[in-house]
Amino acid sequence: MNSSITINDTTLRDGEQAAGVAFQIPEKISIAALLDAIGVPEIEVGIPAMGAVETEAIRAMLSLGLRAHLLGWNRAVPSDILASIRCGLKRIHISVPVSDRQMAAKFQGDRPRLLRQLRQCVEMALEQGLWVSVGAEDASRTPLEQVIELAQMAQSWGCRRFRYCDTVGILDPFSTYKQIRRLVRAIDIPVEMHTHDDLGMATANALAGIRAGAQSVNTTVNGLGERAGNAPLEEVVMALRYTLGIDVGVDTCRLRELSQQVARASGAPLPPWKAIVGDNAFAHESGIHAAGVLRDPQTYEPFPPEAVGGQRRLVLGKHSGRHLLLQILKEHGIPVEQIPPGQLEKLLEQVRQHVTHCKHPIPPAELARYCRATLTQWAQHTPEPIPEESHPDVV
Ligand SMILES: [Zn+2]
Repeated sequence: MNSSITINDTTLRDGEQAAGVAFQIPEKISIAALLDAIGVPEIEVGIPAMGAVETEAIRAMLSLGLRAHLLGWNRAVPSDILASIRCGLKRIHISVPVSDRQMAAKFQGDRPRLLRQLRQCVEMALEQGLWVSVGAEDASRTPLEQVIELAQMAQSWGCRRFRYCDTVGILDPFSTYKQIRRLVRAIDIPVEMHTHDDLGMATANALAGIRAGAQSVNTTVNGLGERAGNAPLEEVVMALRYTLGIDVGVDTCRLRELSQQVARASGAPLPPWKAIVGDNAFAHESGIHAAGVLRDPQTYEPFPPEAVGGQRRLVLGKHSGRHLLLQILKEHGIPVEQIPPGQLEKLLEQVRQHVTHCKHPIPPAELARYCRATLTQWAQHTPEPIPEESHPDVV
C-alpha cells in the first residue's frame, strides 16, 4: 500500500454536474481557494469546452496562483484539448468510454476510432508540454482486459496517470480490490479511483482501490455529484486516516467549514446524519450515550469533533435520561438539590411529550428558564407544559 495518496478533488467539475447545481464564478474561486488552503493538492476545476463562462472561471482560478495543481476535464475531441490549452491549464484529464454500452452511445461502438482520436488528443496535449491523465469511463462494467489494454496504451503514449471510473457506482469493495490489484500490477503509472455512490459504497470502494495500490482518488465535498454523488472528500480523508493510517496532508479542522461553503454554493443542504460534517455527527441524546460521553467523549465518538471543525452537542430529547438533564440544569445555574423527589422523572416525561409533539429537541436555556420559574411550584402541583415555541439549540 502506498502511503503518499493524492487527493484530486472534483467538486468543481463532477460535483457541479449534480442535478440543479451551478456555481457562480466567485463561488468557484472561493471553493478552489479553500480546497487549496486546507492542502488538497489537485483540483479538477471544470470543462473548458463548455464555453466562455466556464473558461473565464478557470482562468480566474489559475490567476490565484494556488499551490494545488489545477486540472481540466476533456473528451477525446481535439477542440476540447484546444479549449484547455487556451485557458492556460497545465494539467488535463481526457475521458473515454470503455464499456460496450457507453461506446455504442458515444462512438457508435467504433473502438478503433475512439483509440485513434484519443491518441491524437494525447499527442496534441503532450506537444504543448501538458501533463495528461486518461480516464476509462464505465470501467467497472467493462471486461478488465479491455481496461488494462487502454491503460497500457495510455502509458505508452506518455500519459502520467490512469483513472478507473465506477461511473454508475455498481462495485463493492471486494470486487474493487480485485480489479484494481490487477490493473495496478499491469501498468507503471499511478491509478486514480473515481467512484460513485449509487449503492452507497463510493467511499468504501475508493478505499478498497487504495488498499489495492491506487495512488490517487477523486473526491467531491459533501459527496456532491451526479445522481447519488461521488466519494465525499471529508469521508475519504478521515477514513484514510482512521482505517488505513494514511495522512494525506489535508487540514481536517476546516472540513466542516468547507462543507458548509459548498452546501451554500450548491443549494444542497446536508442531512443532519451526514458522516463527518453533518449537524448530528457529534450529537448525543440517548441516556446511555450522553452519560457515557459526559464521562469520556471517546465512549461514543470515533474522534473528537474538533478534528473536523465540528462541535459536540448534547441534545435533550425523547431518549435522554437523568444524567443529561441534571447536567444541563446545573450548567444553567438551577439548584438541582432543591428539586423535590420524583419531579425529575416528571420533568423527563414532559420533555418526551414536548419533543414528540414538536419534532425538535428542547433548547437547554429554555428548559432552564422553565425550571427556574416552576421550581417553587413543583412540590404543590403539576406545572404548565413546556412552551411549544421552543427551537433547537445546543448545550
Ligand atoms: Zn463521475
